[in-house]
Amino acid sequence: MSVVSDGNEGDICTNSDEEVEGEGGEEDEEDEEPGDIPNYYDDVHDDVELQDTYDPEDYQFTCLSYWESQRVLAQDVAIVAGALKVTPAVAKLVLVHFRWQVSVILDRYKSSFLQMLCEARVQPSAGRSVPYSQSPQCGVCLQLVRKDFLLALSCQHSFCKACWEQHCTVLVNEGTGIGISCMAQDCSLRVPEDLVFPLLSSEDLKDRYRRYLFRDHVESHAQLQLCPGPDCPIVIQVQQPRAGRVKCRGCSQEFCFKCLQMYHAPTDCATVVRWLTKCADDSETANYISAHTKYCPKCNICIEKNGGCNHMQCSKCKHDFCWMCLGDWKSHGSEYYECSRYKENPEVTNQSQQAQAREALKKYLFYFERWENHNKSLQLEAQTYQRIQRKIQDRVMNNLGTWIDWQYMQNAAMLLAKCRYTLQYTYPYAYYMEPGPRKKLFEYQQAQLEAEIENLSWKLERADGYERAGAAGGMSATDQGDLEIQMHIAEHHRRTLLKDFHDT
Ligand SMILES: [Zn+2]
Ligand SMILES: [Zn+2]
Ligand SMILES: [Zn+2]
Ligand SMILES: [Zn+2]
Ligand SMILES: [Zn+2]
Ligand SMILES: [Zn+2]
Repeated sequence: MSVVSDGNEGDICTNSDEEVEGEGGEEDEEDEEPGDIPNYYDDVHDDVELQDTYDPEDYQFTCLSYWESQRVLAQDVAIVAGALKVTPAVAKLVLVHFRWQVSVILDRYKSSFLQMLCEARVQPSAGRSVPYSQSPQCGVCLQLVRKDFLLALSCQHSFCKACWEQHCTVLVNEGTGIGISCMAQDCSLRVPEDLVFPLLSSEDLKDRYRRYLFRDHVESHAQLQLCPGPDCPIVIQVQQPRAGRVKCRGCSQEFCFKCLQMYHAPTDCATVVRWLTKCADDSETANYISAHTKYCPKCNICIEKNGGCNHMQCSKCKHDFCWMCLGDWKSHGSEYYECSRYKENPEVTNQSQQAQAREALKKYLFYFERWENHNKSLQLEAQTYQRIQRKIQDRVMNNLGTWIDWQYMQNAAMLLAKCRYTLQYTYPYAYYMEPGPRKKLFEYQQAQLEAEIENLSWKLERADGYERAGAAGGMSATDQGDLEIQMHIAEHHRRTLLKDFHDT
């Protein structure tokens, strides 16, 4: 929805026959894509119900408290220590090295026990251990001390207790946990924690060491991740580690289990990092496009965007246009939605380096602008969601229906956010995609999703507008049904895209 820049909310037009063009074109098959693509969603009305039970993003996980995760770790430690007949501290070093895959450790124990201990850096590799030194001298401070004051790991590199103490204290102060190793040059043997603890002088230092160990244990565990939320102690546990979406029960943060970044389907972890780095590097270049105001392409009046929907309607001349490209919205019907597709210049490889650089920048800005715009829409639609929630509360308080009567609005706003979030993350995916039939199919699905989401956003804002205009009964039952069908269609398109393109 659009308003004139004076922000007068009363200007919003909610004439019900005006948005027909927005959803037009569904029966229309004139598309430049290969013939089979327009039928891509033919099954949409038949299997919406069925599809509801299958979500390609479903991902099982558990949130563990500090003590629950300690218990999970302790179970593995007990198994390995028992099987290998080593101390729990040594078992932990072995477990860390093998990412807590107990079955791998037990297999290796049968076939190559010593080799495994070398790999885990708890035993010196054969031939690398120095002959046992008779000299009662510390290898660091070179002082002669009584032999029972010297400490050595299985590598027999002996140092006095004072030197060990200093070594461990410095490292723990630097934030080292399991990484404390032997002081001898070229010796990378790890110091088990039961040797380190007595060397730390204060309770505070011991506490910190305990924390760092815990962090390292969780980080090395293939099925565990520490929540990236600030100071959050929750550990996420999964059975199948992959780039799935998890949500912390402690701080409500949502993130990708594999890379701990914001969840990013359909883009994979490496690509999203690449994209975010690029956006950070090029932030100067991209700054100028973050304009909040544009002008109506027909009557030139200043238009301010105060909602998430990119289908704009000029409050003065009622012209329907696209916020992104300022093109007529009529050309954005779902079958010919072109606004999300970047048309590369096929001649560019034959042109000068300068021209190629210009083209590369143009391409990047095209994707970045859309990525940013969806991000802004998400924020604006979050405000719509809040407003809807407050309004439902008011209505229920004033006995104008129950929560159940109004909940469809809230559900629609929630679904819209979910769909738009996925849509935002289709842009880095498309940006890095190699040209070819698969990219064509992706862009086709992206365009469909884009069109359906703007449709949903438009309908929701209209419903919200009704409420704001104070219409006594709110939306009619037909409008509600219409909104609900649009929810199904948008979600169906979202899931289809993820099913086809999100390989975790
Ligand atoms: Zn010494
Ligand atoms: Zn050593
Ligand atoms: Zn958390
Ligand atoms: Zn990830
Ligand atoms: Zn206008
Ligand atoms: Zn457009």
